[in-house]
Amino acid sequence: MRFCPNCQSLLTPQKVDKRKKLVCKHCGHTQSLTTKVKASYRIKQRIDHGPKDETIILDEESSRHRPMPTVRAVCPKCGHKVAYYWQVQTRSGDEGMTTFYRCHECSQTWREY
Ligand SMILES: [Zn+2]
Ligand SMILES: [Zn+2]
Repeated sequence: MRFCPNCQSLLTPQKVDKRKKLVCKHCGHTQSLTTKVKASYRIKQRIDHGPKDETIILDEESSRHRPMPTVRAVCPKCGHKVAYYWQVQTRSGDEGMTTFYRCHECSQTWREY
């Protein structure tokens, strides 16, 4: 991010006379765009867009295919190795969180001791 030395407004990259320059929309001040500045703008854009796009994709995936998170846990009833799990806060504070499992295969539910 670069700011105008005259009025402290944000400078935006724009094409001026076929060359990229930083332009202040407030007072019309222009500044030549160095390679270094160009690179910093490019990195900023990647940070802005990258993680957001990824998050949307992950959300869609998980809601469509996995209504609950699964974990590798062996079912005591059928021996299946994948189970849904969720955590419940127990009333007696000394126990903390209790993890429950539900077998992906036979729906057997058990808790972790
Ligand atoms: Zn300005
Ligand atoms: Zn099972």
